[in-house]
Amino acid sequence: MKGNSLYLDGVSVVFDGFRALNNLSLIVEPGEMRAVIGPNGAGKTTMMDVITGKTRPTAGTVRFGDHDLTRMDEASIANLGIGRKFQKPTVFDALTVFENLELALKAPRGTLSALHWRLGTEAREKIEETLGEIGLAARAHDLAGILSHGQRQWLEIGMLLMQDPQLLLVDEPVAGMTDQETEHTAALLRRIAGTRSVVVVEHDLEFVRALGRKVTVLHEGTVLSEGPIDQVQADPRVIEVYLGR
Ligand code: ADP
Repeated sequence: MKGNSLYLDGVSVVFDGFRALNNLSLIVEPGEMRAVIGPNGAGKTTMMDVITGKTRPTAGTVRFGDHDLTRMDEASIANLGIGRKFQKPTVFDALTVFENLELALKAPRGTLSALHWRLGTEAREKIEETLGEIGLAARAHDLAGILSHGQRQWLEIGMLLMQDPQLLLVDEPVAGMTDQETEHTAALLRRIAGTRSVVVVEHDLEFVRALGRKVTVLHEGTVLSEGPIDQVQADPRVIEVYLGR
């Protein structure tokens, strides 16, 4: 498919002498979904932060197609169509599900903030398509504040989809979810990937297995192992890092 690949090439981030990322290289192809796992402190959050421009690499480059993200500010990176979903949902409780999606459609990328808007037919169709994609069509006119934890997470993914991302970065989407919500989330992300690239950071290995895609294991700021989940789980280096101490 067309679209941009994400390249991290020899990326290091040093905080006060501590290497949070250490010569990290990674490629995510257009339409690919990549799961990134690793123990606490492995550098997963820092990796997301260098992609979105929140943190500057000390060395190395981050590119999205021909765009050198290391030379761009956060707003310009968001405007390329790189959306990030943080662990905690930031939906508007006093608006309905439909209105939350409508708001996201009108807000500039990366700056979801309250705006006045009028809704045309095209917008309504796009919202309805997204409601189907996130599985909340039946809840469209309920207030976001009464949704379950899982439903709020899906709504927030829907809000990002309204902004036509090319690359979606998702931080620990299933933390605190029931098993059923976790399964729904895996199916949702599998649907989204393909027309967009997705990078998912997650601790829950059963969820990562349900995603069924290539996994990158980070350790001490660099790639320890990469491949299908069964392969990385059988990798002695991964076993040592997860269980060996
Ligand atoms: P993960 O998300 O995999 O748990 P992080 O990327 O949050 O790992 O952190 C990697 C390491 O970098 C950790 O040891 C953390 O303490 C350190 N770190 C992260 N951000 C900062 C910062 N702003 N200043 C100093 N150290 C930081």
